[in-house]
Amino acid sequence: MYILLLGPPGVGKGTQAKILMKKYNIPQIATGDILRAEVASGSQLGQQVKAIMARGELVSDDIMLQIIEKRLRQPDAQRGFILDGFPRTIPQAQALDRLLAKMNNVILKVIEISAPDEEIIKRITNRRVCERCGKVYNLITNPPPADGRCEVCGGRIIQRPDDTEETVRHRIAVYREKTYPLVAYYRQKGHFHQVNGAQSIEKVAEEIDQIIQKNGALPVQGTSRAQSA
Ligand code: AMP
Repeated sequence: MYILLLGPPGVGKGTQAKILMKKYNIPQIATGDILRAEVASGSQLGQQVKAIMARGELVSDDIMLQIIEKRLRQPDAQRGFILDGFPRTIPQAQALDRLLAKMNNVILKVIEISAPDEEIIKRITNRRVCERCGKVYNLITNPPPADGRCEVCGGRIIQRPDDTEETVRHRIAVYREKTYPLVAYYRQKGHFHQVNGAQSIEKVAEEIDQIIQKNGALPVQGTSRAQSA
């Protein structure tokens, strides 16, 4: 099963990707997480992208393509994956098409999750994450423990530097300009579905599941070629 979750920052792609990952035992490939790990490690790449990410701008297509190509070659990605945060531009989508064609013509099921800007801003500015394991909290709906330590790993709970209101508004503008055209790109290719992300986590997960069940996104006899939309 090869799924792409498309949608603005904070709409719930990561949350839904984690639910799908557990359910279908396929990896979540979140390019934002990969980049944040590079920043945390202090690698050359991390140093290169740190300021760009903090401003809410996009990292260059060249860098992103190198990252995704390497990640899709890993053994755990051969049976399927959930893309979260990639592609974010038309050139990235075109490059992804070429990579998937090489991977036995994998068919990507694209699910767009959308929500009004104000809902997104409310969610992201209240988002807190564990800097060690990445567990996501929300000050209103799922508050972190009072001692500021992650309940899973004991790591420090922080606000992502790009989760301030000003940066979130900029990230939404970048999404509209650079990423939203992917909706038309994938719509005309087929295998495209939409979900209202302003609903509860459970309801969104249920609707995504219905799409997957109804549209044959499950691998048949272990081959992706048997999929149909
Ligand atoms: P995310 O965790 O998906 O919100 O991504 C955080 C930040 O990482 C973005 O605001 C970008 O700066 C960068 N980033 C993640 N994925 C991509 C991508 N596919 N193309 C360009 N920049 C990306």
